[in-house]
Amino acid sequence: MKFLNAAFSACLLLTPLAVRGGDALPDYPAEKLSDRVWVIHGPTQLPNPDNKGFMNNPAFVVTKAGVVVIDPGSTLETGRMVLRQIGKVTDKPVTHVFASHIHGDHWLGNQAVREAYPAARFYAHPVMIEMAHAGQADSWINMMEQLTEGASKGTAAVIPDQALQDGQEIVVDDVTFRIYLSDWAHTKTDAMIEVVEESLLATGDNALYTRIGRMDDASFRGNIEACNQALALNLKYYIPGHGPSGGTGVIEPYCDYLKTLYATVSGLYAEGLSDFEMKDTVVEKLAAYQEWSGFSDEVGKHISLALLEIERAEFE
Ligand SMILES: [Zn+2]
Repeated sequence: MKFLNAAFSACLLLTPLAVRGGDALPDYPAEKLSDRVWVIHGPTQLPNPDNKGFMNNPAFVVTKAGVVVIDPGSTLETGRMVLRQIGKVTDKPVTHVFASHIHGDHWLGNQAVREAYPAARFYAHPVMIEMAHAGQADSWINMMEQLTEGASKGTAAVIPDQALQDGQEIVVDDVTFRIYLSDWAHTKTDAMIEVVEESLLATGDNALYTRIGRMDDASFRGNIEACNQALALNLKYYIPGHGPSGGTGVIEPYCDYLKTLYATVSGLYAEGLSDFEMKDTVVEKLAAYQEWSGFSDEVGKHISLALLEIERAEFE
């Protein structure tokens, strides 16, 4: 009888998983970065069927009043996985969620937080909120579904409704969150979030480590400026948008990548070279980054985009 009961309970436990179609994300460990901050370092590859779309660095801050999440990930299941890791550290509710920018790999996990904690507040750059409503949320849902070959299915956009301001401070009991907004850096929607008492900054994709970012929506000059701003704070801890967290050493290389690329392209443009003609020289200058995820996919495009920006700058 005991055995039958056990078997029956096991069936009950397994049923919900089977119904979900096996698309739940496995647990990735939350690493403690400072006293009150944990980070789940996601894979650095683009969304695919294996990572089920998970590729960013969700972080959470445990305050006395509740948990504050920064970038809860790319899908409903990523958000649920993040909540499972939070549950291993504290039983406090999630009360606040920040989105670093419009790219869906960072914030579509909002849905899981809304589902578990309907009272949580969702914050973002005002332009992020605008762009998400104007069609970007749907585009990212579709893109994620295509790239993961359906593994992200069921994800719906929970668009933030709390517009951040540059310089704003949001105090959650014993912890202060200071906000740095850009007009145009990695995108036109970037918010960097400083956790003041922890001497820590989450940069979003204004800075990356071991991954080269997409610059399709970016301004090289604005991104370099935001990167410099992050470094100038000279904090103890940095969480980049992708790749390992650490001290200023995890931010400097990407700032240097952007500066080297933009300066080299500017110089060769002044000599009259086209993007095709300058590629080998630029790639040589960036040899230190060749092993970074996304380098070979992005570098050619980065040269063309930098050229467009340099030409545009002549008319400013
Ligand atoms: Zn991004």
